[in-house]
Amino acid sequence: MPYTLEEMVREAKSAYDAGAAIIHVHVRWDDGTPTQDRERFRVVMDAIRAACPGVILIPSTGGATGMTPEERLQPTELMPEMATLDCGTCNFGDDIFVNDMPTMRAFGKRMLENHIKPEYECFEMGHIDTVLKMVKKGLLPGEPMQFNFVLGVPGCTPPTAGNLDWMVKAIPAGSTWTATGIGKSAFDLAAAAIPMGGNVRVGFEDNLYLSRGVLAKSNGELVKKVVDMAALLGRPVATPAEARAILGLDK
Ligand code: ZN
Repeated sequence: MPYTLEEMVREAKSAYDAGAAIIHVHVRWDDGTPTQDRERFRVVMDAIRAACPGVILIPSTGGATGMTPEERLQPTELMPEMATLDCGTCNFGDDIFVNDMPTMRAFGKRMLENHIKPEYECFEMGHIDTVLKMVKKGLLPGEPMQFNFVLGVPGCTPPTAGNLDWMVKAIPAGSTWTATGIGKSAFDLAAAAIPMGGNVRVGFEDNLYLSRGVLAKSNGELVKKVVDMAALLGRPVATPAEARAILGLDK
């Protein structure tokens, strides 16, 4: 697990070199404590951009459970082109990940003001409905929308192809989406998403294993496995420039 600046850049570059067009970024202090500190994000993201030319960065506004909304919003002050936006409260194992309506309204307001495209993190079907209703009211940035269906968090929607299909059918035409399977479902969910026209996120935030009992040596190893799966299915991965066009970030 990367803690230091050097380790975080090494891991991002391993993913980029393996074919990742987007890096989702969390940061930690050197002792491993998760933080949403704006300056820590600035230093890490600048260093990743230098090591991975053209890569799209999506800093987290989820942080870690127990952080305040103000604390979590700090990376949006850096005007990233995208950032995550978590779309509802849910259990995270023994913890509660709080994303109540006031929090979501505040995050939506910030992203509208700073012209940040959210990646809508949906752990449950109701989260999609919340996004669509808030977009209609002008409280969240609208089309084209990017969703990330994060399935397999203990306490949330199980990571099955059927559940993924149900959620994909609930989003508006013209939206883009990514599937993220937690733990041992990471590659099963990728295998379901690729032929459905979805994108895939893998990495140490979600899963540490390359296969049963085999720890991945780097984020790049996890990415390479998905790149190989996509190639087998005739869906070569996008370059960062192509991904930027697909997401509507080039307009
Ligand atoms: Zn995250």
